Amino acid sequence: MPTLRFYNTLTNWKEDFHPLIPGEVRMYTCGPTVHDFAHIGNFRAYLFEDLLRRTLKYLGFRVIQVMNLTDVDDKTIRKSQAKSMTLRDYTAIYKEAFFQDLDALRIERAEVYPAATDHVPEMVELIRRLVEKGHTYEADGSIYFRISSFPEYGKLSNIRADELRAGVRVDADEYEKEDVRDFALWKAWTPEDGEVYWETALGKGRPGWHIECSAMAARYLGTHFDIHTGGVDNIFPHHENEIAQSVCGFGTKFANYWLHNAHLVVNGEKMSKSLGNFYTLRDVTSAGFSPRVVRYFLLSAHYRQPLNLVYDPRAGVTESLDAARSALGRLDEFRVKLTELGRRSAAGDLQSREVSDLLDKAEEALVAALANDLDVSGALGAVFTLVKEGNRLLASGEMTPTDAVAVNDKLQRWDRVLGVVEPEAETGVDAERIEALIRERNEARQAKNFARADEIRQQLLREGIVLQDSPTGTRWKKE
Ligand code: AMP
Ligand code: ZN
Repeated sequence: MPTLRFYNTLTNWKEDFHPLIPGEVRMYTCGPTVHDFAHIGNFRAYLFEDLLRRTLKYLGFRVIQVMNLTDVDDKTIRKSQAKSMTLRDYTAIYKEAFFQDLDALRIERAEVYPAATDHVPEMVELIRRLVEKGHTYEADGSIYFRISSFPEYGKLSNIRADELRAGVRVDADEYEKEDVRDFALWKAWTPEDGEVYWETALGKGRPGWHIECSAMAARYLGTHFDIHTGGVDNIFPHHENEIAQSVCGFGTKFANYWLHNAHLVVNGEKMSKSLGNFYTLRDVTSAGFSPRVVRYFLLSAHYRQPLNLVYDPRAGVTESLDAARSALGRLDEFRVKLTELGRRSAAGDLQSREVSDLLDKAEEALVAALANDLDVSGALGAVFTLVKEGNRLLASGEMTPTDAVAVNDKLQRWDRVLGVVEPEAETGVDAERIEALIRERNEARQAKNFARADEIRQQLLREGIVLQDSPTGTRWKKE
């Protein structure tokens, strides 16, 4: 096995990877705030983490991955109130949508998805430790972490204390802070919070955002573990704050390796709601692109390079996803040819030396690339070199039926780490068709053609697809 190396944000260095327990990797991946559908930029982060997880498994490690679900914060509270729903009912909609999207994008499930609201006692306990050790102060019932009590603060982001001037507020709703860098561990209840509060030893209120990751990481991975990931926007302040809380509260080291993905940008601009360049997976599948194409596109650039989505479907501009689709088309065409030829293979047929050498070299190239800080371009390069060489051998008649089976098996094996080789239909669910039928059903309902609407629901039900209507639209799931 080649040496596995990752670029560690903490040291600004590509380092050899050694887990704390040989053969086992414990990793924490910051998850979604479930106030809305995740956008495909968020999924770039989750796909990078999926590639990391699959690579570690492919190389023989056992992986324990934790991803938190932030189901209480200002946005979830405000939006649930606007819909007159309880926080739990409101966030349940987006938790479920998140898991649907993960499945559609073939993102492997983490071992644990702890929700913040289920772990308030762990957070209270950690805050209590910080209070006891003198890292906090109280203002108007809220408890803040005092950054000046932790001299190592800023090591991950290289942001120096004096670079942040007092008076520049990082978080507008924290008015009482002594220092701009201080952050809330516990937020005292205010009337705007309505029904959302916990009565605890710290008073009536709710936890801040940062504390949930420190508390839940410790609960499921222990206080010192191997890898922590997130997008670059998480480095400061979120990950700095996690380090401060965990190191000060538990008195141990925290994560050894910090990996961060660069952003997805749209037409060269940051993806944001206000610019109107904000796309969910549903938006893109409605425009006719399958989740597999989206997966391929989001995976196709190295995770530390910004990735630009050239996309304006109303103006017919879809070149990034078209390119992804055509790359997958080449792969599919090749596999169809392999399958046809492979049907003629018989037991006892020999594999040619040329093809077996080709496969060995390809495997070596793929593994070496992935082990080198998840060099996905190198890994996809190995795939498409195999396609090119394979096509050449097919055309010249040098590939035997047994060779074809071996090449196909290899591609299938690689799918354990890449998750893009199998065509959509073979996963049993054609998301684009289902979304199209749902749109037709909604139109039928609007036109009061309830017979047609019901017919579509029944038809999908026969295929094991269940529809659920909610105030935010119709969702589907495979039973
Ligand atoms: P959030 O729900 O905003 O906390 O984001 C969830 C994850 O997505 C975090 O790891 C973010 O760093 C990451 N993220 C947010 N926006 C983007 C983007 N445009 N491209 C890549 N990752 C992103
Ligand atoms: Zn986090």
